[in-house]
Amino acid sequence: MLLIPCPNCGPRDETEFHYGGQAHVPYPENPSELTDTEWSRYLFYRENPKGIFAERWVHSTGCRQWFNMLRDTVSYDIKAIYPMGTPRPDSAGAPAAESGTASLAADSTTTGTDAPNIPGTSISHATAPEGATK
Ligand SMILES: [Zn+2]
Repeated sequence: MLLIPCPNCGPRDETEFHYGGQAHVPYPENPSELTDTEWSRYLFYRENPKGIFAERWVHSTGCRQWFNMLRDTVSYDIKAIYPMGTPRPDSAGAPAAESGTASLAADSTTTGTDAPNIPGTSISHATAPEGATK
């Protein structure tokens, strides 16, 4: 089980939270101009990286506030907690990478690197046991 550091309440068990999917999925500027394919991509297509992933969480049994989390999908290490509406605190979340188009820029799927050096709310050892599943 994850020990999730709520920015308002402090560390709490994972069971107090609900997962909200991928973070930083921008609403289309002109949704009425999208084709059905573009709309379905906005609604349903999400990244599934092996490595650092930006995701939304809500502390549903606590303060009921949403926040973003950078989590390693391999090790379950929580790399950072940051407010909704703020950019990813690492370099992988450049706005151009969120347009839904394929990008070969350096991204979070890169493995073999240490955690990004994130000032502020970086968490160093909020680790699930080896082999833990969500
Ligand atoms: Zn909370």
